Amino acid sequence: MEIWKEIQERLDLPILIAGPCAVESEDQMRLIARILVKHGVPILRGGAFKPRTSPTSFQGLGVEGLKIIKQIGEEFGLMTISEIMDPRDFENTDWLPDIIQIGSRNMQNFALLKEAGRQNRPVLLKRGMAATVHEWLQAAAYIENEGNSKILLCERGIRTVTEVTRNTLDLGAVAYLRQLGTYPIIVDPSHAAGVRSLVVPLAKAGLAAGAQGLMVEIHPSPDQALSDGEQSLTFVEFEELIQSIRF
Ligand code: PEP
Ligand code: MN
Repeated sequence: MEIWKEIQERLDLPILIAGPCAVESEDQMRLIARILVKHGVPILRGGAFKPRTSPTSFQGLGVEGLKIIKQIGEEFGLMTISEIMDPRDFENTDWLPDIIQIGSRNMQNFALLKEAGRQNRPVLLKRGMAATVHEWLQAAAYIENEGNSKILLCERGIRTVTEVTRNTLDLGAVAYLRQLGTYPIIVDPSHAAGVRSLVVPLAKAGLAAGAQGLMVEIHPSPDQALSDGEQSLTFVEFEELIQSIRF
């Protein structure tokens, strides 16, 4: 089935996206893919180009990572999503993921948005960590104006005075965007929470506010993850999350 059609049919179920923060190896991705298949989760995530705050942090496997997630997606019949950070990375479509992720730090990278708008692939546009809802919608319009209206918005938390979570999940924005209805809205509770124990409550809150999907970071052994291990769910926790949101 055409990917955008499949995504639209799964909205409200809600649609689930899960995987590690970063693609680390084929083995890691295979273990994760198996859990997704077991629970009927249709979309595998995994960053290949990682936008890290520090230049000395793990930057991702790059093109090698894109090749791994694509291969594992095909092996397990899963759709794939991965972040693209540089417009030049659209040049070779051989290993592009099924869904293009534009990260928080690039929400107003207009050259990147325009190039994503020229792709025949759905785009998941994350909210800039300090962007208003209207700035976010205008960023989406940059993509749409180039001809691509297959857009999913992803609320991942914004910067506020809180110190107990990594970001503040803006549930009002989620409710607003659901009512507005221009684009599907999904929630990333992982980058909002920053700590594993708060991911499930925020995921549930996001759905209660009207989110049509969730994107969650999971890892076979979070303590060994090369990025965002603190907020990555173990497989057991992920299975508990799935049980608790399927009514
Ligand atoms: C991610 O989802 O991999 C990511 C880097 O998130 P964000 O852009 O929201 O920080
Ligand atoms: Mn991450």
